Amino acid sequence: MRIDGVPMLDEQGSYKGILFLLQDISAIRRLENMRSEFVANVSHELKTPIAAVKGFAETLLGGVTDEKTVRSFLQIIYDESERLNRLISDILDLSKIESKRIPMDYSPVHLSSFFISVMETITTMAKKKGISLQMEIPDELFIEADEDKLKQIFINLLSNAINYTQEGGRVKVIVRHLEHDQGEDRVQFTVSDTGLGIPKKDLPRIFERFYRVDKARSRVSGGTGLGLSIVKHLVDMHNGYLSVESELNIGSSFTVELPFLQEHEG
Ligand code: ADP
Repeated sequence: MRIDGVPMLDEQGSYKGILFLLQDISAIRRLENMRSEFVANVSHELKTPIAAVKGFAETLLGGVTDEKTVRSFLQIIYDESERLNRLISDILDLSKIESKRIPMDYSPVHLSSFFISVMETITTMAKKKGISLQMEIPDELFIEADEDKLKQIFINLLSNAINYTQEGGRVKVIVRHLEHDQGEDRVQFTVSDTGLGIPKKDLPRIFERFYRVDKARSRVSGGTGLGLSIVKHLVDMHNGYLSVESELNIGSSFTVELPFLQEHEG
């Protein structure tokens, strides 16, 4: 709480008393703290791949000649640059989304065609790990949504499902139309996997920026720790809900529920 005193004078300039302004600045302070914490996190996240690139390049410049070592160091430099790229693009996306600078562009989306195109994007990634992709989607179901943002939601959820599932596992998308007699119809999307699962204690925090259950596991998969917070924002922008259920070493299941028809201008 901040208290400011301002002297009150009448028209002739004689002193009438003091006006006290009481201002609750805890919200402002909280926002400032969040901002500086974000900047600190971003700097830390950027420094890690830069340090790796620098370190391995220095060693190479120092005169490593063994061809196998040279190639493996170059691969690390390449992978870390890619990570840096993803990190910067996720940070920019998140900052645009959080400052509400991107408008929604609603149109009817035919869900079975939509998921065929989403699956095409991630099929190579799944094949590399021998993971089977399955879909259960009603034939003629449409939803009013921003298609690009919807795509980003499911590519993020499906890439995670593949990344955090062992070779030979299964990843599945189920879409259901939830009809309501009173109130609005909704569409429920479930992305489930037979993967590593998430410990109970971490579940409430996984939608936070840069939160990872296991840093080493996320680094191996090239994760930025921002995917799920981007998903959460994009679901909120569609006035939807996002939830997760998971059991360690059994698998995880992320559910997105969106209104069937959006009320929007235009
Ligand atoms: P990352 O880029 O690290 O994958 P995300 O924000 O997408 O970041 O996810 C946050 C963390 O939640 C991940 O680091 C991982 O520990 C956990 N996680 C997300 N999806 C899954 C999943 N399908 N199975 C197991 N763990 C998951």
